[in-house]
Amino acid sequence: MAEQFDLRGSGMTSQRARDRLVVSLKEQGIVSESVLRAMQNTPRHIFIDEALAHGAYENNALPIGYNQTISQPYIVAKMTELLLGKKPLNKVLEVGTGSGYQTAILAQLVGRVYSVERIKPLQERAKLRLQALQLTNVQLQHSDGGMGLKSQAPFDAILVTAAPDEVPAELIEQLAIGGTLIIPVGGSQGQQLKKITKKSAMHCDTQIIEAVNFVPLLSGVIS
Ligand code: SAH
Repeated sequence: MAEQFDLRGSGMTSQRARDRLVVSLKEQGIVSESVLRAMQNTPRHIFIDEALAHGAYENNALPIGYNQTISQPYIVAKMTELLLGKKPLNKVLEVGTGSGYQTAILAQLVGRVYSVERIKPLQERAKLRLQALQLTNVQLQHSDGGMGLKSQAPFDAILVTAAPDEVPAELIEQLAIGGTLIIPVGGSQGQQLKKITKKSAMHCDTQIIEAVNFVPLLSGVIS
């Protein structure tokens, strides 16, 4: 399976390119050593069409087909850093697998990742990449993640990579007490990245992190 992907890369996709990406992430304020290490070790170029792979280590979102994009490295690093707290995370839900790049980063840092994607062909391609990287602590699901993933709840943390207009109540419900939800929220008027901590069954703490620009969270699935 792995032969299908050039995991090492060369030139614009080499280890040196990943090392330079990490330098630029540090310059942009990413401090978590474990996040930086995961990004240094993960070949982002295999998550992108070969024709665009030369741009894999620049800080850009890139198209992955079906009108979707792989998130820019800085935002992947930032969201992951926000998610990791003091305690180790055993069970994490990602909504919006897309290319699987964010999934691959998470899989190196937490116990188990459940990732849901509404567009089946994207999910299938992501699966091949994660297999090639031998990341076996990942479970991919083809479903509408706006509903979360009730069968596996509660989660220690939830990370959403597409923006709803409002925070879906199901996601808060499926968060363990003390758990964290990282989510971009807002429509065409602009989005904000939020960090929501579930303090008790009835009470959440919301922190606004920064302005972001994600594809919208859509309902229903595409096979
Ligand atoms: N983390 C991904 C981001 C991809 S873009 C990456 O770095 O590649 C966001 C993804 O969310 C898209 O693939 C889109 O199809 C998916 N998405 C949008 N609404 C969704 C929903 N309700 N349930 C599951 N996935 C959804």
